[in-house]
Amino acid sequence: MNSNSTFSKNKRHFFIENSKEEFDLLVIGGGITGAGIALDAASRGLKVILIEKKDYAWGTSSRSTKLIHGGLRYLKQLEIKLVREVGLERAIVQRNAPHIVLSEKMLLPIIKGGDLSYRLSSFALYVYDFLAKVQGKERRVMLSKERTKKTEPLLNKKNIIGGGLYYEYRTDDARLCIEVIKKAVEYGAFCINYAKFNKPIYENGRLAGAEVIDILDKSVFEIRAKCVINATGPWVDLIRKLDNSLNQKRLMLTKGIHIVVPYSVLPIKQAVYFEIKDKRMLFAIPRQNKTYIGTTDTVYNQDIDSPNISINDIKYLIKGCNYMFPKIKISPNDIISKWAGLRPLVHEDGKSPSEVSRKDEIFISDSGLITIAGGKLTGYRKMAEKTVNLIVKKLNANVSKCKTANLAVSGGDFRNADEIRTFIIQLTTQNRLIGLSVDKIKEWVGRYGSETPRLIEFYKKIHTKNSDKDISFVLAELEYCIIYECIVTLSDFFVRRSSKLYFDPSNVTIYLNECAVYLQKRLMFSKKEINKQIEELNFLLKEATSIPEDSV
Ligand code: FAD
Repeated sequence: MNSNSTFSKNKRHFFIENSKEEFDLLVIGGGITGAGIALDAASRGLKVILIEKKDYAWGTSSRSTKLIHGGLRYLKQLEIKLVREVGLERAIVQRNAPHIVLSEKMLLPIIKGGDLSYRLSSFALYVYDFLAKVQGKERRVMLSKERTKKTEPLLNKKNIIGGGLYYEYRTDDARLCIEVIKKAVEYGAFCINYAKFNKPIYENGRLAGAEVIDILDKSVFEIRAKCVINATGPWVDLIRKLDNSLNQKRLMLTKGIHIVVPYSVLPIKQAVYFEIKDKRMLFAIPRQNKTYIGTTDTVYNQDIDSPNISINDIKYLIKGCNYMFPKIKISPNDIISKWAGLRPLVHEDGKSPSEVSRKDEIFISDSGLITIAGGKLTGYRKMAEKTVNLIVKKLNANVSKCKTANLAVSGGDFRNADEIRTFIIQLTTQNRLIGLSVDKIKEWVGRYGSETPRLIEFYKKIHTKNSDKDISFVLAELEYCIIYECIVTLSDFFVRRSSKLYFDPSNVTIYLNECAVYLQKRLMFSKKEINKQIEELNFLLKEATSIPEDSV
């Protein structure tokens, strides 16, 4: 294993060129599920290749509520086993990715006429902490009516009965995914983005690999593997169809949207998990001078590649927020960005979207295709462990046991939050004279963790040739992503590596041209290619920031 090795477009080319020999495992899908499986399998010593049709985390894994959480609401459905499992996983994921999984105080207001009574909430939060073995100061505290109002002055004072304060973890889903992918690559996995599973290859009736399309140059290549895993989230049934193995067990896709408003529009003191009139629960979460709000949960039967956001989705969230925080009166014009994601849930007869279980399931087809469906971001490591245990058994492979419970993801080489704080102070002290503020270092550590010194080195080089400090910051980040995070397009950088599209869209407009010139030079794109990428990013920017017309 070599943490110095690069993970760039050249490396991607190398992986394709060297993909002729047989692998133990082919993983289809580079969301968090596929990434977790690739890391688990590679770290046990299996020979792994992963293909992703677009960018890593391009699917649901960049469009979630971005919480590593035990799923308090599943207690209501008495899914004790699920709550316990994800509750325990929460702590493991936080330990292994401490730079991008941060503990977040969450307020649960209890309101008159709501589904949650004070007693029930107190008990549920107690059980929640108990199942997740929460320790010390992160245990829940129940609040009186007065303390709840003080804790969150924006709440509707007329209907508050009390509240519960507890802890969840906030993350950056797309970054968690790329950090897991990078670690898998460190362990020898071949991970190839922009490589689409086109059709299965069979030998003697058994699945033996796949025909793959390289989306970048439209060439076709084949991959042979003893085992093929379908980890394509909302797309799993499409792959099963190609394998002729789609049966009664199918996915039910539900759409969830989020909106982002300036923090000044909804200046909550901490994250709030609140019940709205129809008894559903919403989150409002502060992040980077913004507050984001989600989510909806509606059955989705349209184009999986581009879930749309309707004005009704937006109105639903705004109405829910204005009900809980009546002084605020958010309007659609306050929205600075939005996104929609699809939950890949396993269909259960007669159940509504919110009632369907979030637990994962594995299906094995007659040809040998292993499909993993359902699940949550939070449970990705455990899902991977279960899946790889099955593969090891199937292959009768003599490899080590699962080691990911104690394996830091890329950038996560810290023992605890104190070490991160010390690291930030050290880097700030060392680099103050070259214009790096504590805020910039914090921002980078919050995205790239222990890899931040590499960004600082890039910044030093770039800044000698470029007098604008802010541009140098962005280009240093871009350079890091080119060399170590296999970005291939401008959108990979702006949407998933840096989240600027959703949380800093005005800066996308400011830095787009500068970044396009830089990326074109570094990856030797033609004028036509880079213009296509600029066009694509402008389209995504418009899609994320525009509000459907009838609302304005
Ligand atoms: P995806 O992330 O969708 O990955 C599948 C990948 O397969 C895609 O990148 C796709 O491009 C690729 N693919 C498809 N077809 C092909 C092909 N032919 N060839 C190659 N690649 C292909 N969970 C939590 O724990 N916490 C939360 O706060 C949370 N909030 C959520 C909020 C919403 C609105 C939604 C929708 C989900 C949320 N979840 C949350 C659930 C969680 O996000 C998902 O369970 C998880 O991201 C699914 O990951 P995945 O890898 O299975 O699917």
